[in-house]
Amino acid sequence: MEQQSIAIDGPSGAGKSTLARLTARDFGIIHVDTGALYRAIGLFVRRRETGSRDGDAIARLLPEIKIALEFDGNGAQRVLLGGEDVSDAIRTPEASRYASDVSALKPVRAFLLGTQRDLAGASDVVMDGRDIGTVVLPSAGVKVFLTASPEVRAERRLLELREKGVETTYGEVLSDIITRDGNDSSRREAPLREADGAVRLDTSELTLPESFEVLRKIIAERLR
Ligand code: C5P
Repeated sequence: MEQQSIAIDGPSGAGKSTLARLTARDFGIIHVDTGALYRAIGLFVRRRETGSRDGDAIARLLPEIKIALEFDGNGAQRVLLGGEDVSDAIRTPEASRYASDVSALKPVRAFLLGTQRDLAGASDVVMDGRDIGTVVLPSAGVKVFLTASPEVRAERRLLELREKGVETTYGEVLSDIITRDGNDSSRREAPLREADGAVRLDTSELTLPESFEVLRKIIAERLR
């Protein structure tokens, strides 16, 4: 039987990962956070002291990169880079900037396309990213475009980073978000945009439980 896929796209900090994780737990399926794949490539590139926009050098590194995802009993994801668990190392603001830069490169996107489709072909998934409904899984059973204002997203991301002990300021996080929004929407390869048939959900005015309630209804109605 064909696998069920739920595609959740949107800008950074809209709550995609948190909501996708809750959805996965609720529906008993796995959650694939595709941003983590780009982050792992960014980390590899940085460790090799290669420029994050040096497309030719990065394309030459790709065959050496071995990324694997592991899922625990709750469907939560750990990211392995060459066997090393880098799930925490990929979450720093510097890793975010590298991820944003490398994700604009065509060879990087092509490299990860197969990985993402294989995961969705092997199990029912909720997959979050920027181009899941438009490029990776255009025939997903449910497509959601999750968004919120840049200011609200910056506040949420700041709290998240502080909880992890990362030292940063609201201004820095907001400016990072605005830069990444610009990069993600204006890039030539798989720019961030709403997929045909996607349901738009703006969470600026909603708490997390409220957002999840709305999302759950959207999904349940479409998977029926
Ligand atoms: O979602 P997250 O912030 O972890 O993503 C890290 C970076 O990876 C983003 O800035 C975005 O540019 C890129 N990305 C992407 N396509 C995806 C997922 C993430 O280009 N499907």
